Amino acid sequence: MTDKKIILATNNAGKLKEFKTLLAPKGIEVLGLSDLDQHIEIAETGTTFAENALIKAKTIANLMQTYPVISDDSGLMVKPLNDEPGIYSARYAGDHDDAANIKKLLGKLGDLSFEDRKARFHATIAAVKPNGQQLVVSGEVEGYITFEVRGIGGFGYDPIFFSPELGKTFGEASAQEKKLISHRRRAIDAFLEQFDEWWTA
Ligand code: IMP
Repeated sequence: MTDKKIILATNNAGKLKEFKTLLAPKGIEVLGLSDLDQHIEIAETGTTFAENALIKAKTIANLMQTYPVISDDSGLMVKPLNDEPGIYSARYAGDHDDAANIKKLLGKLGDLSFEDRKARFHATIAAVKPNGQQLVVSGEVEGYITFEVRGIGGFGYDPIFFSPELGKTFGEASAQEKKLISHRRRAIDAFLEQFDEWWTA
């Protein structure tokens, strides 16, 4: 047992599993909304990743008033499209329709050369304690948008995100390979770096 408990403001079982694994070495037990019998949907009405992550964390923190709450918001930013789809990544073409989102993005890039198809995944993590102390950190990973889908692994835009660090798309990479360099991994590293100071503040 651990005395460090945190609520993750998500209904997404995959995300919960990922955070549980990443925070376990720190002795932090992560509870999902489903563990707490809460099944609320929170509208992401912010204009930045940080605003959206904070909206989710604060809403649950106000509701529960018990443990610290963390939340994340992430997306893909494509340089030649002025960082689109950004905070709208999940609902770019259709709500959480990965295939439609990819088709729209590839269509917009057309035959732009590979070197000009620079993109980056971004993840922000926001944490709020019952006493109101906040911590907001981010992580990014850079790459290029391919001309067609490559690989069947991962989710979202993974099959069209080529990582020079891995030499393949995130869709072709194993979960283990992606986890080593992902934007979420980097945001969580930044979170852990500042965790002790925030936890005791
Ligand atoms: P959210 O952070 O759950 O709101 O997700 C934002 C959206 O960004 C997802 O639905 C995906 O479309 C995209 N996205 C975020 N992280 C990744 C990733 O690691 N791979 C592929 N797509 C991602």
